[in-house]
Amino acid sequence: MFSEFCLEMPDRLEDALSILSDMKGTPVAGGTNILIDIRSQKENPPRLVALGDIDELRGIKVEKGRVVVGSRTTISDLLKSSQLLKTSPSVIDAAGQFAGQMVRNTGTMGGNIACASPAADLVPPLMSLDAEVRLASASGSRTVALRDYYQGYKQDVRGADELVTQVSWNALPQKSVNRFYKLARRRGDAITVTGVAVTLSVSNGKCSKARIALGAVAPTAIRAEKAENMLEGQVLSETLIEAVATQAAAECSPIDDVRASADYRRHSVQMLTRRLISEAWNKLAQEVKSHVK
Ligand SMILES: Cc1cc2nc3c(=O)[nH]c(=O)nc-3n(C[C@H](O)[C@H](O)[C@H](O)COP(=O)(O)OP(=O)(O)OC[C@H]3O[C@@H](n4cnc5c(N)ncnc54)[C@H](O)[C@@H]3O)c2cc1C
Repeated sequence: MFSEFCLEMPDRLEDALSILSDMKGTPVAGGTNILIDIRSQKENPPRLVALGDIDELRGIKVEKGRVVVGSRTTISDLLKSSQLLKTSPSVIDAAGQFAGQMVRNTGTMGGNIACASPAADLVPPLMSLDAEVRLASASGSRTVALRDYYQGYKQDVRGADELVTQVSWNALPQKSVNRFYKLARRRGDAITVTGVAVTLSVSNGKCSKARIALGAVAPTAIRAEKAENMLEGQVLSETLIEAVATQAAAECSPIDDVRASADYRRHSVQMLTRRLISEAWNKLAQEVKSHVK
């Protein structure tokens, strides 16, 4: 049963921000998380501010190499975007493994970020692309790097009067690979056991940039920065990739739960990191070979 709440349905961002500032309230975008929490009485917000009619928060643009996605853009919108497939393949990997069709049609990128779940599937891909989150309130706006957005389990830097309005990142440069793998108990509609996103760029035959982002293996999604540093500036070998995968596993702090043990999660981080980096390096092999004698 739902407890009683007051429902505000503004159709302009400005009005939504005024309501949040003057009367307080809990944003609801697709409702695929929050309504379940209300029904199970984990949450009991007296006022909901629905974002569903605010068209300016929905859409995908790529301008001057920068990808900008409105917070109310749905998972289905992401999957339909040929621009995202080209500029941000890991986001499409995540969207393609996300829930089932009904949830994809209503669940949003903003809701996935703001729910602050360590298992939110869009977050590791977005971290692997160095995404930034735009937060707006009635008194102004600010931009926060996604890697700095989370403070702890289900805790973020968003103020109660702020909305996530958009997420942006640079399009994947040439000579780069960007992929996400979701390991779950079954292929569709399952909560992630381990999520690994990798970005690898090469220049002059060496790895010029590496990003490894991990989901569901720590209180928040994280970057395995020590492992990334081991790759940058190097010609990759099997031995180095194995050492990097071991380091990535050492940087996570998973828990045992109904879906998997902590040990299995650590092992899967190692295995998936190794696999994704090896595949990326092999894919970039032509570029590497032309520089390495
Ligand atoms: C059957 C099922 C399957 C699922 N499968 C997956 C899955 O495979 N992968 C996955 O990651 N998740 C999954 N989820 C969880 C959920 O669908 C996603 O996290 C989704 O992206 C949430 O988006 P939403 O718009 O529905 O968020 P909502 O439920 O509307 O909101 C979630 C939270 O974010 C806040 N919020 C929403 N929008 C904003 C905003 N613009 N600014 C500030 N705060 C905001 C809300 O106040 C709330 O606290 C699943 C859920 C269900 C019910």
